[in-house]
Amino acid sequence: MIVTLRENLDRATVQGFMKRLEWMGARAVLLQNGGQARIGVVARGGANLTERTFRLLPEVASVEPLDTPYKMASRRLHPHDTVFDVGGTPLGGVGLVVMAGPCAVESEEQIHLAAAQVRAAGATVLRAGAYKPRTSPYAFQGLGEEGLRLMRSAADAQGMAMVTELVSPAHLDAVCRYADMVQVGARNMQNFELLKAVGGCGRPVLLKRGMSATYTDWLMAAEYVMAAGNEQVALCERGIRTFETLTRNTLDVAAIPVLRDLSHLPVVADPSHGTGLRAMVLPMALAAVSAGAHGLMIEVHPDPDRALSDGDQSLFPEQFGDLMRAVRGVAGALGRTVTDAEPVPAGR
Ligand code: PEP
Ligand code: MN
Repeated sequence: MIVTLRENLDRATVQGFMKRLEWMGARAVLLQNGGQARIGVVARGGANLTERTFRLLPEVASVEPLDTPYKMASRRLHPHDTVFDVGGTPLGGVGLVVMAGPCAVESEEQIHLAAAQVRAAGATVLRAGAYKPRTSPYAFQGLGEEGLRLMRSAADAQGMAMVTELVSPAHLDAVCRYADMVQVGARNMQNFELLKAVGGCGRPVLLKRGMSATYTDWLMAAEYVMAAGNEQVALCERGIRTFETLTRNTLDVAAIPVLRDLSHLPVVADPSHGTGLRAMVLPMALAAVSAGAHGLMIEVHPDPDRALSDGDQSLFPEQFGDLMRAVRGVAGALGRTVTDAEPVPAGR
């Protein structure tokens, strides 16, 4: 709920009031100071705090309920866009962050080559999976911790940050040791134990949209991570299941402005999984930038025809160069730039 205090209370009184809220079992966020201070209040697990509880407090002028089930993820509790750092690259601001790389780490040579190719075209964050959630148990499952190590060395060699998927709380320590950002995949968007685990890991989280998740489901998944103590969450639209079968998924471009309206969290678009077709990645990347995405996640493979996963949607390196040129053009027309951060010092 949003609590408005009486007019012209001094700073110490407002601060004392906020301390009291924390003591009562709430999380308090100062939304506006001066004049009538406004405070966003979220009851922590189990705290029985109702509007009436607050109306009875002498400092309070009025109380408005927050009529969405997600609270910390709501823009009403946090009017300004959230910006956080992903291994040296700010995500959520005016700069457009490009995360690119193969679907999976396949070998030392493949990931080093892929990293060099995407960095040369202008990506600042290397993406790849070391633990792959595959539909078939007979398909390539990823190289596990060895994949994380290879990916880290490839990212460091290029001065890039790295984002990789976590599929089980059992791998949390390993993934957090190597990665700058932890990805929660579409299939795990409502794996609440995993969400609570990443809430405690101290790394930014890329939360992909479940393939049949509504905006509210998705924001509630973000709320899980935030309520567990990690407010650095980016929302990644990666396509949803619809009646259409020609494309692998249907990229919901409207999700981008909708989420930016409902929430303050950065929004990323993944047109690779969102279409499943290499030829559709560039036009949908441009659509996503036009719609206001803060970042793009693009699958690129040095040799897509030989990729062990998602070859059909992976761009050839030259195509990724074309995509980056087109993205720079659209971003520029909208007064934005593609983030080309200073290289991250290697050897971490
Ligand atoms: C991926 O990014 O490689 C991936 C598996 O994505 P999603 O969870 O969106 O299917
Ligand atoms: Mn993939």
